[in-house]
Amino acid sequence: MLPFEKCPICGGELKSKVVEKILHGGSHTAILKVNAEVCLHCGERLYTEDVVRLFENIRRKLKKQDLIGFDPSGQTFTVDKEWLNKQIEQIVEHTG
Ligand SMILES: [Zn+2]
Repeated sequence: MLPFEKCPICGGELKSKVVEKILHGGSHTAILKVNAEVCLHCGERLYTEDVVRLFENIRRKLKKQDLIGFDPSGQTFTVDKEWLNKQIEQIVEHTG
């Protein structure tokens, strides 16, 4: 189990919760739900060593584009700079 009984950051009480974790590897992103100990005071999340190892494994898989076991879940986009600038210019024009 966890080496902590209290939050190592603030000393607050910890509670077992299922949390959503977002992992990045290369240009890919994966979202998963895992158990974590969450501090009721500051919101710090603590994971067991096994879960941390799992995160590393998933990051490695994403980097290698090894997507076995992953389901597509929408796409992540980078907003094009030119397009973004145009939008901002329009806003400026409208607001005078
Ligand atoms: Zn805390």
